[in-house]
Order: sequence, then structure tokens, then C-alpha cells
Amino acid sequence: MNNLLQQKKIERILNLKKEKNAVILAHYYQIPEIQDIADIKGDSLRLAQEAATIDADIIVFCGVHFMAETAKILNRKTKVILPDLSAGCSLADSCPIEDFKVFKKNHPNHKVISYINCSADVKTETDVVCTSGNALQIVESFPKEQPLIFAPDKNLGSYINSLSGRKMVLWDGTCEVHDQLKTEKLIQLKIENPDAKVVAHPECDGPILALADYIGSTKGMLDFCKSDDSNKFIVASETGILHQMQINSPKKEFIVVPADETCACNDCEHMKKNNIDNLLACLENESPEIILEENIMNRAEKPIREMINISKKLGII
Ligand code: 13P
Ligand code: SF4
Repeated sequence: MNNLLQQKKIERILNLKKEKNAVILAHYYQIPEIQDIADIKGDSLRLAQEAATIDADIIVFCGVHFMAETAKILNRKTKVILPDLSAGCSLADSCPIEDFKVFKKNHPNHKVISYINCSADVKTETDVVCTSGNALQIVESFPKEQPLIFAPDKNLGSYINSLSGRKMVLWDGTCEVHDQLKTEKLIQLKIENPDAKVVAHPECDGPILALADYIGSTKGMLDFCKSDDSNKFIVASETGILHQMQINSPKKEFIVVPADETCACNDCEHMKKNNIDNLLACLENESPEIILEENIMNRAEKPIREMINISKKLGII
């Protein structure tokens, strides 16, 4: 009965999508039911790139607020709706614009690279945006002697510092999901599964990354697990990614690194705010909608476009 009801809601979503000329974008951390009905699935970089070129009346963004904001900034003529407007991100929340302006003032002569996981306001104070899929290349697009601020993810920033040999000044923010994964748990899993390879998202902290065979964005991890010969992977990331991993490689085994003793899962509470019910309501009501001031969008667009241009030039996208 419940399954039947769920199926009916999904059918209604698919019909409304057609009627309203809407496109559903979903991040790989969304619940499987949403990933399965999305028109486009992707990591932050792909979703931003796709959002920029979508020709539709409505974009339903199944992800978190900063992602939907980015879609709106890149595609002004399209109505962008998000099932739950309160789906935030600990990284974006760690970096209030007024504090960030003071931080910038304290580091004169620095250019600013901001991880896409920040507010549109912070993007207006940024030279180039990056994602985990292109952070190294964006950093290296600046001359070696150019002092840089990297915000708001200190884990990604220090990982890129270690790869590039730079000494970027880091904003003190973290992803509340990836930063909590436990190194001891990972070591234990490695001992129990000596045949497994470890993949990790660069939002994890240094000790986790030091144990990884592969470090990369959600898309990077998906590609690695699909093409690598290994049949077992320990995944240091959000649980939503396992769905696509399993679709790509049904015979391979994926084990997620837990956050602590009390929890065997690492769900991002923000990503998981979207569900079939609020997705249906959102399409029915065409709300909640992302509304931003024109002036903010104009200023935030520049560093996002710059990221897309650099990524295209380097063949990353
Ligand atoms: P990517 O999709 O760029 O890997 O980012 C992961 C993430 O945490 C998004 O919030
Ligand atoms: Fe933000 Fe982390 Fe959730 Fe991604 S997984 S939305 S970085 S809190």
C-alpha cells in the first residue's frame, strides 16, 4: 500500500515535470528515490555547468541551498525551486559575509578562491570559485607568487596546499559530515578488509586522506570505483553516493566509513531534507523559489563563470 502510494506520487512528479516543462537536477547525496527520477545527476561542478545551459521553465534543484543559488545565478530566465529552502550547508554557514569581509581586509593583496559551498554573498567577494573537482587547477591558474585566500573549507584548502606547495590562507570551516568521519574506524575497516581500496572526499580531514588510495570529488570517486579492478571499496563520504556506485558496479562491495559509535551512517541532514513529498509539493506550488538581488547575482556570477571558463579550457568539463 505504502509502495503504491509512493509510486503514485512519483508518477505525479513525472507528469507535473512534463506539464510544467521542468528539469530535475539531483546531487549524488540525495536519497535514491530522488536520484532515480532526476533528469540530470551530478557532482557540484557538473550540476553548475548543466544548470547554466538548461532550456526549461523550471529547474527543480534537489540539492542544497548554495547549489540552487548557483543555478539561479547562471540561469536567470529560469525559475529555480528547491524542495526545502532550509537545506543549508555547514561550510556555507561557517562563513558569514560580514566576517569574511573583515578576514579579507586582514589579508590585503590576497586574491580569493572560494569553494562553491558558500553563499552568493561570499561569491561576490571572490575572484574565482572552485569545486572539489577542479580546486587544484583553479589554484594553479594563479601565479605561484600570488598570495591566496581559500574559503571556506580548511580541509580541502590544506589538501590543495599540500598538493600545490602553496601556503594559502585558510578560512576555518568544515563539512559537518566529512570532517566527523573517524580515522580509527577507517583503520579498523582496512584491517577487516585488506582487499579493499579506500576512496575519500577532500572535505575529510588530513588523517583520513592520508589513508586513501584515491581522493576526489563525488564524480571522481564514482569514476575511480567504476574503473578500478578492485571489488571492494571503503568510502569516506556521504552515504547517498553509494546508490550510484552500486548502479555503476552491482557486483562490487562498498562500505561507508562511519562517523562515530552511535551512528553507522553519514547522512548530510541538509541533503536529506529533500524527499518525494516535498519534491511533489514544490513542483505543484512552484515554490519555494530562489530569489536573489540582481546586483548580488551580477557580482557572484563573475567568479563562477571564471571557474567554468578555466575548467573548459583545461578540459575538466
Ligand atoms: P562535490 O559534489 O563537488 O564532490 O561536493 C560534495 C559536497 O559535499 C557537496 O555538498
Ligand atoms: Fe555541506 Fe557537507 Fe552537507 Fe555537502 S555534505 S552539503 S559540504 S554539510
